[in-house]
Amino acid sequence: MPELADVVVWSIPMRVRFRGITVREGLLLRGEAGWGEWSPFLEYDSTEALPWLRCALEAAAGDWPEPVRDRVPVNVTVPVVSPEDAHALVSRSGCRTAKVKVADPGARLADDQARLEAVRDALGPQGRIRVDANGAWDIDEAVSSIAVLDRAAGGLEYVEQPCAAVEDLVVVRRRTSVRIAADESIRRVEDPYRVRDLEAADVAVLKVQPLGGVRACLRIAEEIGLPVVVSSALETSVGLAAGVALAAALPELDLACGLATSGMLADDLVDEPLVPVDGHLPVRVPAVSRTRLGRAAAAADREAHWRARLLDVQDQSS
Ligand SMILES: [Mg+2]
Repeated sequence: MPELADVVVWSIPMRVRFRGITVREGLLLRGEAGWGEWSPFLEYDSTEALPWLRCALEAAAGDWPEPVRDRVPVNVTVPVVSPEDAHALVSRSGCRTAKVKVADPGARLADDQARLEAVRDALGPQGRIRVDANGAWDIDEAVSSIAVLDRAAGGLEYVEQPCAAVEDLVVVRRRTSVRIAADESIRRVEDPYRVRDLEAADVAVLKVQPLGGVRACLRIAEEIGLPVVVSSALETSVGLAAGVALAAALPELDLACGLATSGMLADDLVDEPLVPVDGHLPVRVPAVSRTRLGRAAAAADREAHWRARLLDVQDQSS
Protein backbone atom coordinates (compact mmCIF):
# COMPACT_ATOMS: atom_id res chain seq x y z
CA MET A 1 0.00 0.00 0.00
CA PRO A 2 1.35 3.45 -0.88
CA GLU A 3 1.89 6.08 1.81
CA LEU A 4 -1.14 8.29 2.21
CA ALA A 5 -0.59 12.00 2.70
CA ASP A 6 -3.96 12.53 4.27
CA VAL A 7 -7.01 10.56 5.36
CA VAL A 8 -10.27 12.29 6.27
CA VAL A 9 -13.42 10.52 7.49
CA TRP A 10 -16.72 12.11 6.48
CA SER A 11 -20.40 11.56 7.11
CA ILE A 12 -23.21 13.10 5.03
CA PRO A 13 -26.97 12.60 5.50
CA MET A 14 -28.98 11.29 2.56
CA ARG A 15 -31.78 13.54 1.32
CA VAL A 16 -34.04 10.51 1.10
CA ARG A 17 -33.59 7.07 2.57
CA PHE A 18 -32.12 4.77 -0.09
CA ARG A 19 -31.05 1.12 0.15
CA GLY A 20 -31.99 1.44 3.85
CA ILE A 21 -29.32 4.10 4.26
CA THR A 22 -29.98 7.50 5.84
CA VAL A 23 -26.37 8.60 6.26
CA ARG A 24 -23.55 7.97 3.80
CA GLU A 25 -20.07 7.61 5.28
CA GLY A 26 -16.60 7.06 3.94
CA LEU A 27 -13.18 8.51 3.78
CA LEU A 28 -11.17 10.56 1.38
CA LEU A 29 -7.53 9.70 1.03
CA ARG A 30 -4.93 11.85 -0.65
CA GLY A 31 -2.08 10.49 -2.70
CA GLU A 32 0.43 11.95 -5.11
CA ALA A 33 -2.06 13.24 -7.63
CA GLY A 34 -5.09 14.10 -5.54
CA TRP A 35 -8.00 12.65 -3.60
CA GLY A 36 -9.75 9.32 -3.87
CA GLU A 37 -12.99 8.23 -2.20
CA TRP A 38 -13.30 4.99 -0.25
CA SER A 39 -16.88 4.39 0.81
CA PRO A 40 -17.73 0.67 0.93
CA PHE A 41 -21.18 0.07 2.44
CA LEU A 42 -21.06 -0.68 6.15
CA GLU A 43 -22.05 -4.34 5.84
CA TYR A 44 -19.09 -5.17 3.57
CA ASP A 45 -16.25 -7.09 5.20
CA SER A 46 -12.60 -6.30 4.56
CA THR A 47 -12.33 -8.77 1.64
CA GLU A 48 -15.27 -7.14 -0.14
CA ALA A 49 -14.03 -3.65 0.72
CA LEU A 50 -10.60 -4.20 -0.82
CA PRO A 51 -11.52 -3.50 -4.48
CA TRP A 52 -13.18 -0.28 -3.26
CA LEU A 53 -9.82 0.72 -1.78
CA ARG A 54 -8.00 -0.07 -5.03
CA CYS A 55 -10.37 2.32 -6.77
CA ALA A 56 -9.59 5.09 -4.25
CA LEU A 57 -5.84 4.55 -4.52
CA GLU A 58 -5.99 4.59 -8.31
CA ALA A 59 -7.75 7.97 -8.14
CA ALA A 60 -5.26 9.33 -5.59
CA ALA A 61 -2.39 8.22 -7.82
CA GLY A 62 -3.97 9.97 -10.81
CA ASP A 63 -3.78 6.73 -12.76
CA TRP A 64 -6.83 7.04 -15.01
CA PRO A 65 -6.94 6.27 -18.75
CA GLU A 66 -7.27 9.06 -21.28
CA PRO A 67 -10.86 10.16 -21.91
CA VAL A 68 -12.26 9.79 -25.42
CA ARG A 69 -15.22 12.16 -24.81
CA ASP A 70 -15.69 15.33 -22.79
CA ARG A 71 -19.14 14.63 -21.37
CA VAL A 72 -21.18 11.54 -20.57
CA PRO A 73 -24.95 11.09 -20.90
CA VAL A 74 -26.77 10.31 -17.65
CA ASN A 75 -30.24 9.16 -16.71
CA VAL A 76 -32.67 10.83 -14.35
CA THR A 77 -33.87 8.41 -11.67
CA VAL A 78 -37.59 8.29 -10.93
CA PRO A 79 -38.42 6.84 -7.51
CA VAL A 80 -41.86 5.60 -6.43
CA VAL A 81 -43.75 8.89 -6.70
CA SER A 82 -47.08 9.99 -8.21
CA PRO A 83 -47.38 10.25 -12.01
CA GLU A 84 -47.56 14.06 -11.65
CA ASP A 85 -44.35 14.20 -9.65
CA ALA A 86 -42.64 11.78 -12.03
CA HIS A 87 -43.61 13.97 -14.97
CA ALA A 88 -42.26 17.11 -13.29
CA LEU A 89 -39.04 15.41 -12.21
CA VAL A 90 -38.26 14.12 -15.70
CA SER A 91 -39.20 17.40 -17.45
CA ARG A 92 -37.01 19.43 -15.08
CA SER A 93 -34.02 17.05 -15.36
CA GLY A 94 -33.03 17.79 -18.94
CA CYS A 95 -32.16 14.08 -19.32
CA ARG A 96 -33.17 12.08 -22.40
CA THR A 97 -33.11 8.80 -20.51
CA ALA A 98 -35.15 7.99 -17.40
CA LYS A 99 -34.66 5.09 -15.04
CA VAL A 100 -37.91 4.27 -13.29
CA LYS A 101 -38.06 2.26 -10.09
CA VAL A 102 -40.73 -0.46 -10.31
CA ALA A 103 -41.89 -3.47 -8.28
CA ASP A 104 -41.34 -1.72 -4.97
CA PRO A 105 -42.56 -3.80 -2.01
CA GLY A 106 -46.27 -3.08 -1.56
CA ALA A 107 -46.58 -1.14 -4.81
CA ARG A 108 -49.16 -2.13 -7.45
CA LEU A 109 -48.31 -2.84 -11.07
CA ALA A 110 -51.04 -0.37 -12.10
CA ASP A 111 -49.16 2.42 -10.28
CA ASP A 112 -45.91 1.52 -12.03
CA GLN A 113 -47.83 1.57 -15.30
CA ALA A 114 -49.28 5.03 -14.63
CA ARG A 115 -45.87 6.37 -13.64
CA LEU A 116 -44.32 5.01 -16.84
CA GLU A 117 -47.02 6.60 -18.98
CA ALA A 118 -46.31 9.95 -17.30
CA VAL A 119 -42.57 9.55 -17.86
CA ARG A 120 -43.11 8.77 -21.57
CA ASP A 121 -45.27 11.84 -21.86
CA ALA A 122 -42.53 13.98 -20.27
CA LEU A 123 -39.70 12.54 -22.38
CA GLY A 124 -41.46 12.45 -25.72
CA PRO A 125 -41.15 9.63 -28.28
CA GLN A 126 -37.35 9.98 -28.65
CA GLY A 127 -36.61 9.55 -24.96
CA ARG A 128 -35.45 6.24 -23.54
CA ILE A 129 -37.03 4.56 -20.54
CA ARG A 130 -35.47 1.78 -18.49
CA VAL A 131 -36.96 0.22 -15.37
CA ASP A 132 -35.27 -1.23 -12.30
CA ALA A 133 -37.02 -3.98 -10.33
CA ASN A 134 -34.07 -4.58 -7.96
CA GLY A 135 -34.65 -8.33 -8.11
CA ALA A 136 -38.21 -8.18 -6.75
CA TRP A 137 -40.00 -10.56 -9.15
CA ASP A 138 -40.05 -14.30 -9.56
CA ILE A 139 -39.70 -15.59 -13.12
CA ASP A 140 -43.40 -15.65 -14.06
CA GLU A 141 -44.12 -12.29 -12.43
CA ALA A 142 -41.16 -10.83 -14.28
CA VAL A 143 -42.29 -12.09 -17.69
CA SER A 144 -45.88 -10.84 -17.30
CA SER A 145 -44.96 -7.54 -15.61
CA ILE A 146 -42.31 -6.71 -18.21
CA ALA A 147 -44.89 -7.11 -21.01
CA VAL A 148 -47.32 -4.76 -19.24
CA LEU A 149 -44.66 -2.15 -18.43
CA ASP A 150 -43.14 -2.31 -21.91
CA ARG A 151 -46.54 -1.35 -23.33
CA ALA A 152 -47.11 1.39 -20.73
CA ALA A 153 -43.71 2.91 -21.48
CA GLY A 154 -44.21 2.75 -25.24
CA GLY A 155 -41.10 0.56 -25.40
CA LEU A 156 -38.48 -0.11 -22.74
CA GLU A 157 -34.75 0.31 -23.32
CA TYR A 158 -34.13 -2.52 -20.84
CA VAL A 159 -35.22 -4.01 -17.52
CA GLU A 160 -32.66 -3.92 -14.75
CA GLN A 161 -32.41 -6.95 -12.45
CA PRO A 162 -35.97 -8.33 -12.82
CA CYS A 163 -35.13 -11.28 -10.53
CA ALA A 164 -32.55 -11.63 -7.79
CA ALA A 165 -30.80 -14.82 -8.94
CA VAL A 166 -28.60 -14.73 -12.00
CA GLU A 167 -29.98 -18.15 -13.06
CA ASP A 168 -33.47 -16.63 -13.12
CA LEU A 169 -32.28 -13.78 -15.33
CA VAL A 170 -31.24 -16.42 -17.85
CA VAL A 171 -34.79 -17.81 -18.02
CA VAL A 172 -36.53 -14.41 -18.06
CA ARG A 173 -34.23 -13.22 -20.81
CA ARG A 174 -35.31 -16.14 -23.01
CA ARG A 175 -38.98 -15.44 -22.38
CA THR A 176 -39.12 -11.71 -23.12
CA SER A 177 -38.08 -9.53 -26.03
CA VAL A 178 -37.07 -6.64 -23.74
CA ARG A 179 -33.36 -6.48 -22.98
CA ILE A 180 -32.19 -7.48 -19.50
CA ALA A 181 -29.52 -5.62 -17.49
CA ALA A 182 -27.61 -7.16 -14.60
CA ASP A 183 -26.91 -4.88 -11.64
CA GLU A 184 -27.10 -6.66 -8.27
CA SER A 185 -25.77 -9.78 -10.05
CA ILE A 186 -22.52 -7.86 -10.57
CA ARG A 187 -20.92 -7.12 -7.22
CA ARG A 188 -17.53 -8.81 -7.38
CA VAL A 189 -14.89 -8.84 -10.09
CA GLU A 190 -15.76 -12.38 -11.24
CA ASP A 191 -19.51 -11.64 -11.54
CA PRO A 192 -19.57 -9.92 -14.94
CA TYR A 193 -17.90 -12.98 -16.49
CA ARG A 194 -20.50 -15.26 -14.94
CA VAL A 195 -23.28 -13.05 -16.36
CA ARG A 196 -21.62 -13.27 -19.76
CA ASP A 197 -20.98 -17.04 -19.64
CA LEU A 198 -24.57 -17.82 -18.60
CA GLU A 199 -25.93 -15.34 -21.17
CA ALA A 200 -27.94 -13.87 -18.31
CA ALA A 201 -28.07 -10.27 -19.55
CA ASP A 202 -27.80 -7.97 -22.56
CA VAL A 203 -26.37 -5.07 -20.57
CA ALA A 204 -23.90 -4.98 -17.67
CA VAL A 205 -24.12 -2.33 -14.96
CA LEU A 206 -20.57 -1.59 -13.74
CA LYS A 207 -19.61 0.35 -10.62
CA VAL A 208 -16.01 1.41 -10.23
CA GLN A 209 -15.58 0.99 -6.47
CA PRO A 210 -16.83 -2.60 -6.00
CA LEU A 211 -15.05 -3.73 -9.17
CA GLY A 212 -11.65 -2.29 -8.25
CA GLY A 213 -11.32 0.97 -10.15
CA VAL A 214 -11.46 2.59 -13.56
CA ARG A 215 -8.82 0.48 -15.30
CA ALA A 216 -10.20 -2.76 -13.86
CA CYS A 217 -13.68 -1.87 -15.17
CA LEU A 218 -12.34 -0.88 -18.55
CA ARG A 219 -10.75 -4.33 -18.80
CA ILE A 220 -14.00 -6.02 -17.73
CA ALA A 221 -15.97 -4.03 -20.30
CA GLU A 222 -13.56 -5.11 -23.01
CA GLU A 223 -13.61 -8.78 -22.00
CA ILE A 224 -17.34 -9.33 -21.46
CA GLY A 225 -18.35 -7.89 -24.80
CA LEU A 226 -21.64 -6.48 -23.51
CA PRO A 227 -22.81 -2.87 -23.59
CA VAL A 228 -22.03 -1.24 -20.27
CA VAL A 229 -23.89 1.22 -18.07
CA VAL A 230 -21.62 2.95 -15.56
CA SER A 231 -23.42 3.57 -12.29
CA SER A 232 -22.58 5.06 -8.92
CA ALA A 233 -22.48 3.51 -5.48
CA LEU A 234 -23.98 6.69 -4.02
CA GLU A 235 -20.65 8.47 -3.84
CA THR A 236 -19.84 12.12 -3.28
CA SER A 237 -18.62 13.98 -6.36
CA VAL A 238 -15.08 12.81 -5.54
CA GLY A 239 -16.10 9.18 -6.01
CA LEU A 240 -18.44 9.97 -8.90
CA ALA A 241 -15.49 11.44 -10.79
CA ALA A 242 -14.03 7.92 -11.01
CA GLY A 243 -17.26 6.64 -12.59
CA VAL A 244 -17.18 9.56 -14.99
CA ALA A 245 -13.55 8.73 -15.84
CA LEU A 246 -14.61 5.19 -16.76
CA ALA A 247 -17.56 6.35 -18.85
CA ALA A 248 -15.29 8.87 -20.54
CA ALA A 249 -12.70 6.22 -21.44
CA LEU A 250 -15.01 3.50 -22.80
CA PRO A 251 -14.43 3.06 -26.55
CA GLU A 252 -18.21 2.93 -27.02
CA LEU A 253 -20.90 4.44 -24.83
CA ASP A 254 -24.40 4.08 -26.21
CA LEU A 255 -26.31 3.99 -22.93
CA ALA A 256 -26.83 6.77 -20.42
CA CYS A 257 -24.98 6.30 -17.13
CA GLY A 258 -26.43 6.16 -13.62
CA LEU A 259 -24.04 8.76 -12.30
CA ALA A 260 -26.40 11.67 -11.66
CA THR A 261 -26.70 10.82 -7.98
CA SER A 262 -24.80 13.59 -6.17
CA GLY A 263 -28.13 15.24 -5.34
CA MET A 264 -29.15 12.25 -3.24
CA LEU A 265 -26.67 13.39 -0.61
CA ALA A 266 -27.52 16.49 1.44
CA ASP A 267 -24.01 17.90 0.96
CA ASP A 268 -20.87 17.28 -1.07
CA LEU A 269 -17.12 17.54 -0.54
CA VAL A 270 -16.46 19.83 -3.49
CA ASP A 271 -17.64 23.36 -4.27
CA GLU A 272 -18.74 22.42 -7.77
CA PRO A 273 -20.52 19.04 -7.53
CA LEU A 274 -20.96 16.81 -10.56
CA VAL A 275 -24.52 17.64 -11.55
CA PRO A 276 -26.00 17.07 -14.99
CA VAL A 277 -26.21 19.87 -17.52
CA ASP A 278 -28.46 19.18 -20.49
CA GLY A 279 -28.58 15.48 -19.57
CA HIS A 280 -24.79 15.08 -19.36
CA LEU A 281 -22.06 15.17 -16.75
CA PRO A 282 -18.89 17.01 -17.71
CA VAL A 283 -15.69 14.95 -17.67
CA ARG A 284 -13.68 16.69 -14.95
CA VAL A 285 -12.22 16.13 -11.51
CA PRO A 286 -13.89 18.53 -9.08
CA ALA A 287 -11.57 20.12 -6.52
CA VAL A 288 -12.05 19.00 -2.92
CA SER A 289 -13.11 21.78 -0.58
CA ARG A 290 -11.41 21.78 2.83
CA THR A 291 -14.31 23.83 4.19
CA ARG A 292 -16.87 21.27 3.12
CA LEU A 293 -14.66 18.42 4.26
CA GLY A 294 -14.49 20.08 7.68
CA ARG A 295 -18.25 20.52 7.75
CA ALA A 296 -18.78 16.84 6.91
CA ALA A 297 -16.20 15.57 9.43
CA ALA A 298 -17.45 12.40 11.12
CA ALA A 299 -18.02 12.13 14.87
CA ALA A 300 -15.14 10.64 16.88
CA ASP A 301 -16.62 7.14 17.14
CA ARG A 302 -17.28 6.93 13.40
CA GLU A 303 -13.82 8.31 12.66
CA ALA A 304 -12.31 5.55 14.82
CA HIS A 305 -14.49 2.94 13.10
CA TRP A 306 -13.36 3.95 9.62
CA ARG A 307 -9.68 4.21 10.50
CA ALA A 308 -9.80 0.72 12.02
CA ARG A 309 -11.61 -0.51 8.92
CA LEU A 310 -8.96 0.98 6.66
CA LEU A 311 -6.19 -0.75 8.65
CA ASP A 312 -8.03 -4.09 8.36
CA VAL A 313 -8.31 -3.79 4.61
CA GLN A 314 -4.71 -2.62 4.22
CA ASP A 315 -3.58 -5.65 6.32
CA GLN A 316 -5.61 -7.90 4.11
CA SER A 317 -3.87 -6.72 0.98
CA SER A 318 -0.28 -6.77 2.27
MG1 LIG B 1 -30.11 -1.15 -10.15
